[in-house]
Amino acid sequence: MTEDTKKPLNFLEQIIEEDLANGIHPKKLRFRFPPEPNGYLHIGHAASICLNFGLGLSYNAPVNLRFDDTNPAKEEQEYVDAIKHDIKWLGFEWDKELYSSDYFQQLYDWAVLLIKNGKAYVDDQSSEVMAQQKGSPIKVGVNSPHRNRSVEENLSLFESMKKGGFNEATHVLRAKIDMTSPNMLMRDPIIYRVLKRAHHRTGNDWNIYPMYDWTHGESDYIEQISHSICTLEFKNHRELYDWFLDQVHDAELMRPKQREFARRNLSYTVMSKRKLLQLVEENLVNGWDDPRMPTISGLRRRGYTPEAIKKFSELAGIAKRDNVTDVALLEFCIKDDLNKTAPRVMAVLDPVKVIITNYPEGQEEWLEAENNQEDASAGFRKVPFSREIYIEREDFREQANKKFFRLKLDKEVRLKNAYIIKANSVVKNDADEILEIHCTYDTLSRSGSGTEESQRKVKGTLHWVSVQHAVKAEVRLYDRLFNHEAPDSQKEVDFKTFINPDSLVINNNAFVEPSLKEANVSDRFQFQRLGYFNIDNDSTSEKLVFNRTVSLRDSWAKTEAKQ
Ligand code: ATP
Ligand code: MG
Repeated sequence: MTEDTKKPLNFLEQIIEEDLANGIHPKKLRFRFPPEPNGYLHIGHAASICLNFGLGLSYNAPVNLRFDDTNPAKEEQEYVDAIKHDIKWLGFEWDKELYSSDYFQQLYDWAVLLIKNGKAYVDDQSSEVMAQQKGSPIKVGVNSPHRNRSVEENLSLFESMKKGGFNEATHVLRAKIDMTSPNMLMRDPIIYRVLKRAHHRTGNDWNIYPMYDWTHGESDYIEQISHSICTLEFKNHRELYDWFLDQVHDAELMRPKQREFARRNLSYTVMSKRKLLQLVEENLVNGWDDPRMPTISGLRRRGYTPEAIKKFSELAGIAKRDNVTDVALLEFCIKDDLNKTAPRVMAVLDPVKVIITNYPEGQEEWLEAENNQEDASAGFRKVPFSREIYIEREDFREQANKKFFRLKLDKEVRLKNAYIIKANSVVKNDADEILEIHCTYDTLSRSGSGTEESQRKVKGTLHWVSVQHAVKAEVRLYDRLFNHEAPDSQKEVDFKTFINPDSLVINNNAFVEPSLKEANVSDRFQFQRLGYFNIDNDSTSEKLVFNRTVSLRDSWAKTEAKQ
């Protein structure tokens, strides 16, 4: 490895190191990321992207982006574009953009070679009969009556399949391997089926399409991928992967090696594209990039950074066995990143008015506020202060015990970047709701003014915005999409039963400080004391729309610290 040699190697890197040491694949490493363009990428794919592109960077080796597009029924150009956009956004660069469909002719020619070598045959039994003949893990299979068709007959049938002479589900091409193999996948697997569908790249050129197993390994071979890394469910497929390579491998060329790692699973969400598609199609979310989706595009819209996603992949690690990663780790990664980078601003989500009765009417002051105490280079901004301000309704109580460090009658708090105020009385409506809190301020206590009073310590500090300067905003408060740790773990219960009804709460009553008028779509901020928020695509110059990326407090923690 060229860098980071101090970090312990994961087991895949150890395999690569051994191969290099043994002179297998000398200096010819090449990796690939092989998405099927049948949906948007999710945080599980990010694990595979970070792994494959990370290996490329560590070993200074190229990484191909290969679209595994062998199923025209489910694949679309929209997905190809979204996948490319997401990988680039994560900050990775592929060497070649390739498509399995580019190899349809080569795959066909190799299939003809298999037939000529007596290693493949056309079967025209029903799928039920073939499934029965296949046996089970405890019962060996029996040979198809068509297994011994002549080469000539097979070639002619296969050609008819290709030319559209047969209907779907009537004829398949099968590899002739071993119907008694303990590995069910080796019992004469299907390598081609008739599918009369237009393909998003090859149009109506083909009436037959190659199966995944046949395509994947041979595509790796065509591209001369050294290490083909996939997820654990393909472990059983490795024997077949190798068998297919044996049929075509030329000793002069590199022989790809398949190795498997555990899928990334995340708590409180689902990760299969099929299920995510259901959420989209049934309008349970607002599209693939809904900020509650575990998709890269959803996380991006939610305010996640590429750095946080990459850090998450690194911390979650590469495992040999299936496991579930706690979503709290992902939330930690984005908080940690935004803590360093997000400017602080003040916003009040549930406002109640405070009138500072001894502050001159009509006066305003533009106070200096630090943008980010974690980053000295972030500088300062001006925040307006005036006689009437908003604070959070929950930051005031008429009476409260000693542990309530916010505002209460006859007690003081500091207003962030501003003065110390003391609550004196409240004005209420007939329903006993507080309309105004009347306070007085300590005229000498302004933060940063250098006076003794400016240093005076009081227990609580509140965020606030000046009423006259405040900008109204919509704030979308996102929470976990599911209220069950493993929504798709129960066979009898549909995962959608566990959708969290409070996963989106829209607040149209929030006020933000005026500096935010200048902000742009996708800019990220910390709303002080509340959490991290970004500006949503729906935002306009007339109406600011924010998404809550993550709150500062973890409302899901079992033992929430009580105030
Ligand atoms: P899904 O089951 O979500 O539909 P998939 O495996 O069918 O996913 P592909 O487009 O075939 O999706 O995946 C592209 C690559 O990403 C494959 O190499 C696959 O192994 C890997 N991958 C997919 N899901 C995960 C995951 N949860 N964790 C790690 N890698 C994954
Ligand atoms: Mg797949």
